[in-house]
Amino acid sequence: MPTDKDGVMIILSSPSGAGKTTLVNLLSKLNNFEISISHTTRQPRHNEVPNKDYYFVDETEFKRLINNQEFLEYAKVFNNFYGSTRTPVINNLSKGKNVLFDIDWQGADQIKNNKLDYKLITFFILPPSKEVLFDRLSNRDMKDKLIADERMKQFGRDVLHWINYDYVVINNDLEKCFQKIKNLIDAEINNGSKDYDKEYIRSHVEKLTS
Ligand code: 5GP
Repeated sequence: MPTDKDGVMIILSSPSGAGKTTLVNLLSKLNNFEISISHTTRQPRHNEVPNKDYYFVDETEFKRLINNQEFLEYAKVFNNFYGSTRTPVINNLSKGKNVLFDIDWQGADQIKNNKLDYKLITFFILPPSKEVLFDRLSNRDMKDKLIADERMKQFGRDVLHWINYDYVVINNDLEKCFQKIKNLIDAEINNGSKDYDKEYIRSHVEKLTS
């Protein structure tokens, strides 16, 4: 049975290129925070470490895990499967560790709907502007501008999910964004006051989608 000593689940989602993975890595360095390592069927990138960044598996193995009901959530993103297995998450939470999820809106919806007894805090990270986002995506995929264009279109669709998150945070400065998320997590855990302006976020989203 979950108790007050249990950890909390923290989800970070964002459209591609908003800097979420860097933020998750910074948060994971805090005392008592662990990242939930996802399984994926996509190929590793050159800088990724198997069993640290992801468990890289083929589709047969992924489907076996689905059939065994091992996933807390899973989804298809950009033609590949991604999922978070339940056992390591529950083990960490019951040891009092806070678990960080770097997952998309489909996974966030599933975890929310699972209604586990553990506290859940969800964050949606947004870029400061469409121009900055396009620059970030172009730098990442220098060789293939088409991918950047496609991801900009995807951005227009993904951004609409902001409304389902507890907090939306704009990443215009990595350190400030990290501090903001950290302060909101602290306030949630300790029932403190939260520095959060939803109307400002609403008008930022309107600018990003206009
Ligand atoms: P990437 O391939 O760039 O590492 O990740 C693509 C997208 O898949 C990102 O939005 C990332 O947050 C999401 N993702 C990574 N792991 C999971 C997971 O376990 N479940 C879900 N639903 N999404 C994931």
